Amino acid sequence: MNTSKTKDRYQIAVVPGDGIGKEVMEAAIYVLDALDIEFDYVYAEAGDECLEKNGTALPSETLDLIRNSDACLFGAAGETAADVIVKIRQEMRMFANLRPVKSYPNTNPLYDNIDFMIVRENTEGLYIAGEESYTDEGAVARRIITREAEERIIDYAFKYAKENNKNKVTGVHKANVLKKSDGLFKEIFYEVASRYPDIEAEDFYVDATAMYLITQPENFDVIVTTNLFGDILSDEGAGLVGGLGLIPSANIGEDGALFEPVHGSAPDIAGQNKANPIAMMLSAIMMLRYLGENEAAENFEAAILKVLNDANKLTGDLGGSATTMELAREVKNNLKN
Ligand code: ATP
Repeated sequence: MNTSKTKDRYQIAVVPGDGIGKEVMEAAIYVLDALDIEFDYVYAEAGDECLEKNGTALPSETLDLIRNSDACLFGAAGETAADVIVKIRQEMRMFANLRPVKSYPNTNPLYDNIDFMIVRENTEGLYIAGEESYTDEGAVARRIITREAEERIIDYAFKYAKENNKNKVTGVHKANVLKKSDGLFKEIFYEVASRYPDIEAEDFYVDATAMYLITQPENFDVIVTTNLFGDILSDEGAGLVGGLGLIPSANIGEDGALFEPVHGSAPDIAGQNKANPIAMMLSAIMMLRYLGENEAAENFEAAILKVLNDANKLTGDLGGSATTMELAREVKNNLKN
């Protein structure tokens, strides 16, 4: 995430994808268009419908477009989600997965004062294709921890904390059991921490962290961890702050950045104009911050907060009866010019 505006005009790759992906994308772009920023949107296909139509779920043109754009907004992919997103992450070397955990009013969070970021390493750990195989006894998976990738993600977490006025970074591992691999993670964590003397550094075991997230989530600012632990803790974080319609995410890499809601294509409600577009909008806000458009990001987020506080135009998942676009119009009307 940047501290200052990076350009005067941005090319954004827009991949609405399947199901409600299209609807929440339309809603988010409707609000983005009302901000005083020059965006060139270039639309591209990916996902189930794309597979049906073109014989591939992720055409090379879509990958090239994402590579050549300042950022990508991604809606949702159905059955092909894993192939599409995993491939984009690999091709673009998107090493950081960011999942903010924040409680908003009228959304049923377990606590009202949660606001932290989970920074997950996305390229190694236990989730690398080809590192799992059958053996005579059963199956085996290798967990890879490299100095380069872990230093990069830990440094990203500290930099994020510094640029976003967060006071503390918590490194999460299991070094008491995984003495070599997570021992190395812990060692690198404190090496990197020493380069950021103004930011408090602490480390916890992953099992303790899973409990603290429930008992004292307000004590976290930024959590940084390896691939599998980050995957699990991110979903625990989502459970702390209400439904799927509210959780955004970012994938950041050396060759590109992609912003997407955590939810999928929700075929059960697709095409009915009743999906909650807030997760997509919050993903667009993460993109604005990545581009250094912090003022616009704050304006957009404040408008969403106002709509949630007023609670007059909420979608069904939040107990209201508004349509996707009614909620979007309400957000737009609450922007400050
Ligand atoms: P996919 O196969 O694409 O993963 P899914 O239905 O298995 O789709 P999600 O799309 O994540 O998984 O949705 C799970 C449920 O959560 C859906 O049935 C839907 O009712 C609800 N849901 C998800 N996103 C939203 C949203 N933005 N607004 C309202 N409800 C949502």
